[in-house]
Amino acid sequence: MAVDHATARDGFALSDDERSVRDTVRDWAQREVAPGAAQRDEEERYDRSLFERAGELGLTGLPYPEELGGAGMGTFAWVLAIEEIAAADMGMAVSLSVHILSQLCIFGHGSDEQKQRLLPGMTAGRELGAFALTEPEAGSDAASLSLAARRDGDDYLLTGTKIWITNAGEAARYVVFATVDRSKGRAGITAFVVEADTLGFRLGSKERKMGIRGTSAHELVFEEARVPAANLLGEEGDGLKVALSALGAGRISIAGACTGLARSALELATRYALQRRQFGRAIADHAMVQAMLAEMAVGVDAARLLTWRAARLRDAGQPINSASSMAKWYASDVAMRVTTDAVQIYGGAGYSRDNPVERLMRDAKGAQIYEGTNQVHRLIVAQHVLETMRRGG
Ligand SMILES: Cc1cc2nc3c(=O)[nH]c(=O)nc-3n(C[C@H](O)[C@H](O)[C@H](O)COP(=O)(O)OP(=O)(O)OC[C@H]3O[C@@H](n4cnc5c(N)ncnc54)[C@H](O)[C@@H]3O)c2cc1C
Repeated sequence: MAVDHATARDGFALSDDERSVRDTVRDWAQREVAPGAAQRDEEERYDRSLFERAGELGLTGLPYPEELGGAGMGTFAWVLAIEEIAAADMGMAVSLSVHILSQLCIFGHGSDEQKQRLLPGMTAGRELGAFALTEPEAGSDAASLSLAARRDGDDYLLTGTKIWITNAGEAARYVVFATVDRSKGRAGITAFVVEADTLGFRLGSKERKMGIRGTSAHELVFEEARVPAANLLGEEGDGLKVALSALGAGRISIAGACTGLARSALELATRYALQRRQFGRAIADHAMVQAMLAEMAVGVDAARLLTWRAARLRDAGQPINSASSMAKWYASDVAMRVTTDAVQIYGGAGYSRDNPVERLMRDAKGAQIYEGTNQVHRLIVAQHVLETMRRGG
């Protein structure tokens, strides 16, 4: 196995395949994704052709087995790819992360028939996926969701509302969490795959987002939407398990994306600090600017290391619950801090929409909220620490 010296110096060697994924995606993302990112943000426009290009490059199903149209490369290769995409455009990275998340539900819990029917178009980059859990009255407390699913012959009728659904309006299919019996609490939650053209299903209002404005997000409205029982994932009552296991892995992708976003902000700030002069010298020569750059650099590296650890654990079949929460929480906090410091280093120019760093700062904020708020991740990690001690670990 050839060694990548840039990372081997830090004690991590990338295989030839991993290095090739990283370099190919970096090249593509810088050439084709980065140039339009500011305009897509300005116009709040999702560019479907980028998703299709990602499909042609084998990125839209990269972690999934080849027999289902994927590249069979696993989670670690995926985080290398998503870091590069986010370094070019966080919106594109989040949209793809959600696409991967929706496939995780089908891959992890679908029957063979469902996998063969639903996944190949998604892994190939022809059909975009979405993941619909959040409701107006059920956010962090997802188990309290109320979207109702009632059996009607060979179908279920879904009634209720979801909000904040990324990729809505662009997706071909949605993994939707509903309850077959609210009195059962968690045990009533059930996962369905809902095709975009389902009778009784429509888009509601568009979310007017602070950042990642190149992705679409909408409310979803279900009015006795008729979903075939053949599209139920697992059994009735398995829904929370489906959601939580997919999110556990999905968070590693968000952590990788936050690392890429933060890296991009650090690179921009460093370049600006070398070129901007005040008091007769480059601002990079002022110790307080150097301190900011140093803190940004350690944050980016630590975020990447936590992300890589979680990805390696998942690929090794080890438990990832606490590791993926740590990675997502830490990397998104780093992205927020580093992008804020990048704006600071740019000074007034950083506050202007004519420069990229204010967009990166807006893009970072959402990652502290979606796929579990960072408060919820602190709870997950604390629970893990306490349980380990109670078990005598
Ligand atoms: C850009 C973006 C994209 C999104 N995309 C999707 C998507 O594709 N699919 C989807 O289903 N959802 C999506 N969401 C929704 C997201 O998952 C929720 O916003 C998130 O889970 C938080 O829920 P909430 O907004 O209802 O906040 P709440 O749960 O109401 O939380 C409000 C505040 O209270 C805190 N809090 C709540 N409970 C506790 C507790 N027990 N202890 C300590 N603090 C607590 C939270 O941390 C937060 O600070 C998206 C959100 C955003 C912003």
